[in-house]
Amino acid sequence: MLHVRNLEVAYGRLQALWDVSFEVPRGKIVALIGANGAGKTTTLKTLAGLLVPKAGIIEFEGRRLDGSSPARIVRAGLVLVPEGRRLFPEMTVEDNLLMGAYATPKAGRPERLERVYTIFPRARERRRQLAGTLSGGEQQMVAIGRGLMADPSVLMLDEPSLGLAPLMVEEMFGVVTEINATGVTVLLVEQNTQHSLRIAHRGYVVEAGRTVLAGTGQELLRNDEVRRAYLGL
Ligand code: ATP
Repeated sequence: MLHVRNLEVAYGRLQALWDVSFEVPRGKIVALIGANGAGKTTTLKTLAGLLVPKAGIIEFEGRRLDGSSPARIVRAGLVLVPEGRRLFPEMTVEDNLLMGAYATPKAGRPERLERVYTIFPRARERRRQLAGTLSGGEQQMVAIGRGLMADPSVLMLDEPSLGLAPLMVEEMFGVVTEINATGVTVLLVEQNTQHSLRIAHRGYVVEAGRTVLAGTGQELLRNDEVRRAYLGL
């Protein structure tokens, strides 16, 4: 569904990605794992059109997307839930959710809102509350809900478990699995290697701007290098 080949990205003179290549098959969960600063966020931002690659190919459902505008990429069905949630704290939960539908046609929004509230009953209960008053975990759920409001075929999640309490982390990974089961393909970036590889059909290890290792989630969990470098075993 999504092919990324030999992606190179620089921030001015500082090159962050040197050679990132991976595949996201339709209907699967694919995880990108790696240390702080390896280039995972840069990869997602480039896929979302927020950064323009120096070289490489991004092909989504047979169409080249590298160089497209963020709005066009959202409309094509590739949607990013950014690291740190980035909600509008002074707006209600419901208005935050509706912002996610901004680039899509008005028809179908009420149904999508209903679908989000079914996945996140707490967001329904708190829909009139200001988003800034929610707990970190609740805010993460609203951020994911906002992504779903754009009706993605691929949902990209950047560090959704960051800063959450252990119980919320469990719940969040459960929600990602549940969303995937409804037919949404997921590209997950995580430093929580153990959890993300457990739910991922496929994973890639990113190191210093390069994809250096690939396998099924289970294969990577058993891989000695991964166990040493990312699981502390
Ligand atoms: P993290 O988990 O910390 O987000 P990451 O794997 O997502 O790590 P990136 O944030 O993509 O890594 O960073 C990759 C490299 O690019 C790092 O060397 C980082 O310092 C650099 N970098 C990231 N953002 C910028 C920026 N806005 N300007 C300059 N360099 C940047």
